[in-house]
Amino acid sequence: MKLKCQCCGFEQEFANAEEAFQAGWDAPPPFSYVACSICPGVCVVMGAGHTKAHACWAQEGRPAEFTLEKCATDDDFDDPGRIEKAKTSMGVLDRIFSKFAERRDNQKPN
Ligand SMILES: [Zn+2]
Ligand SMILES: [Zn+2]
Repeated sequence: MKLKCQCCGFEQEFANAEEAFQAGWDAPPPFSYVACSICPGVCVVMGAGHTKAHACWAQEGRPAEFTLEKCATDDDFDDPGRIEKAKTSMGVLDRIFSKFAERRDNQKPN
C-alpha cells in the first residue's frame, strides 16, 4: 500500500497499516487521515499552518525524523525562544497532541 501525506504530499510504500503505524505515520485504520512521520497530524486535521516547514525542507532537504526546529507549525517555526520553552514545559507537541490524545487513544488498535 502506498500512502501519501495529506500535508506535505510525501509518498511512501508500506506492506500494511501496521508497518506504517510503526514508522510513525498516521493513517487509516485507526486514523481518519494520512500524515507522514514528520508532519504534525494537527496540520492535516485542523488545517494548522505548516508551510514554513515545507519551504525549509525544499531548501535543506526533508528531515529524516521529526524535530521542533524543522517540523513545527508556522506559529512556532520562527520563534526559537518559544521552541526552547516548549521543549522544557508545556511543549508545542503537548499542545498539538493533547487535543488529539484522547481521540488517538480511543482509535489505537489493541
Ligand atoms: Zn507538512
Ligand atoms: Zn508530510
